Amino acid sequence: MKESEKLHTLRRREMVETLKKYGIADQRVLDVFQRVQRHLFFDVDATDLAYNDGAYPIGFGQTISQPYTVAFMTALLVERSPFGKVLEIGTGSGYQAAILEALGYCVYTIERIFELYERAEKLFSRLCLNIICRGGDGTLGWVDEAPFDGIMVTAGAPAEPELLMHQLAEHGSMVIPVGNADSQQMMVITRDGDTFRREVFQQFTFVPLVGREGWNDTVF
Ligand code: SAM
Repeated sequence: MKESEKLHTLRRREMVETLKKYGIADQRVLDVFQRVQRHLFFDVDATDLAYNDGAYPIGFGQTISQPYTVAFMTALLVERSPFGKVLEIGTGSGYQAAILEALGYCVYTIERIFELYERAEKLFSRLCLNIICRGGDGTLGWVDEAPFDGIMVTAGAPAEPELLMHQLAEHGSMVIPVGNADSQQMMVITRDGDTFRREVFQQFTFVPLVGREGWNDTVF
């Protein structure tokens, strides 16, 4: 193994220890965080920063989320919908989608910024990841592929997006941060027939979900 790879492996181990310290306990989640190489989702000149527990800019005013945030949302999903078909809204760097793929989900992901979608699609192909992606407004969901056992929204929504909720399979769960532009509450919305059960967790700060059932793009 090359020296740089050894260093990345070591730094990943430290990142996983930090996640444990912050309360991430699901072994399936910790294992994929050890396996998936986060530095591959960074520009080559920034790979040194890949295993810090922080968000990082990926261009176009967007970010790759903090590892703790990704782990927290992934654990919420895995505990409720451990397998099947998952839709991610907000591909960004592609890291969250790669984490879901490593967990064995059949992953669909949508990104509204075309350049980020193109970059992620090329990366998935280069890394031979079995992830299906497209560009567009993810708040509309992916009608042709619905229903989904899980939906993960990785941008801050102003309200619960109805169209996405109705693309959940029976007992499927959506993990989504909902709130104002500065702070959002992490929620899990689980479908039970025509009704939806809600669980509420701690506050996070995300870039905005922009689209028909998100924020208006003239605001940002
Ligand atoms: N999951 C990403 C990752 O692992 O790098 C991080 C996502 S970043 C915090 C949020 C992303 O959501 C941005 O790339 C943004 O362009 C995208 N986004 C915002 N609104 C969207 C929408 N309506 N549909 C699809 N993507 C959207």
